[in-house]
Amino acid sequence: MSSLVQLRSDRPGPAVTCASGAPLELVDRSARRVRYLRVSLTDRCNYRCTYCMPEQAPDYGPRAELLRLEEVEQVVAAFARGGVERVRLTGGEPTLRRGLVELVARLSQLPTRDGRLEVVMTTNGERLEGLAQPLAAAGLHAVTVSLDSLDPARFAAITRRGHLDRVLAGIEAARAAGFASVKLNTVAVRGFNDDELSAIAEYAWARDVVPRFIELMPMSGGELFVPGTLMPAAEVRAAIAQGLDGALRPVDGGTARGAGPATYHAVVGGRWAGRVLGTIGAMTENFCAGCNRLRISATGQLHGCLAHDDAGDLRAALRGAALRGEDGQPALDRVVRTVLGTKRDGHGFQPDGTGGPRKAMISIGG
Ligand code: SAM
Ligand code: SF4
Repeated sequence: MSSLVQLRSDRPGPAVTCASGAPLELVDRSARRVRYLRVSLTDRCNYRCTYCMPEQAPDYGPRAELLRLEEVEQVVAAFARGGVERVRLTGGEPTLRRGLVELVARLSQLPTRDGRLEVVMTTNGERLEGLAQPLAAAGLHAVTVSLDSLDPARFAAITRRGHLDRVLAGIEAARAAGFASVKLNTVAVRGFNDDELSAIAEYAWARDVVPRFIELMPMSGGELFVPGTLMPAAEVRAAIAQGLDGALRPVDGGTARGAGPATYHAVVGGRWAGRVLGTIGAMTENFCAGCNRLRISATGQLHGCLAHDDAGDLRAALRGAALRGEDGQPALDRVVRTVLGTKRDGHGFQPDGTGGPRKAMISIGG
């Protein structure tokens, strides 16, 4: 990567380019190419999932600290030109952000090097029933819904304030809306939902939805992480295979991945033969060497890694430049360059809950 990187604009908002005027190669210091951006739209949530948030929500800062939607668009446009192909909207709970549908409509029109930006979203599903159709019409490509239990009482217990019936209605609405794909995210928690993982997979497959099972990660300085509840991805797959009375085989020898870190396995034989599930083994099946992403928090902090607190301040760059009457390009340039130049090689998560960042999952969006 050129050390003379600069940001140049030929349309509203900065473009990521290098000194020669050619688009900046979004490649980090370990030669990993960034193609995927996760953007948190809010650090607020209508749930309080026990592994993600404390019972009492933290003191949220003033709303003015959040990136404005025009600023989100400005930054995402720059990354799309730099080689990002897909952006995932997350949170907190992204469906709480006013202007979401309009933002999706604008982002999904942004040009990339090869076409248009693919915009996808992860949601808890509570408000999806009414939003699925407008979001699909606005150009949202795909949606992932988090679902940790099919048992209403368990669901209420882990989310502290979620309604299973609303989420299930949201999943049906998403299926009807015509997204390219609907996926489920289930955090596997030993002693909580380890006895219903195959039932969740079957629920998904019966609806042409792809289930994905995530290992618990110790965010927030490990405060919400209960050692012993981590269920390794290999155990998740074994439990599901046993629940189906069948077997799973790695798709493409275990190398098949989507745009993200999930590895995919297919069912061999039986009623669900050929159906696929994903596992995200952040703790036990380290995928950092293939990391292709950067993350932007709701307040505009650019994070190279989920598991470390280092960040560059995109918001300060944009707003400081605006105050000075500049277009923000050189300042944004410095932030992107610094984050790419310092992106960590891997995480330090430990199964005892140590080694993770102080930042909360809710602030960065997974
Ligand atoms: N609120 C939305 C939702 O729940 O889908 C989007 C944000 S949420 C932080 C994104 C994903 O991170 C969810 O699937 C959630 O289950 C997962 N998650 C949250 N805390 C986690 C943790 N400590 N370890 C692993 N996954 C976690
Ligand atoms: Fe909210 Fe998602 Fe965190 Fe649950 S996992 S508290 S829904 S941000």
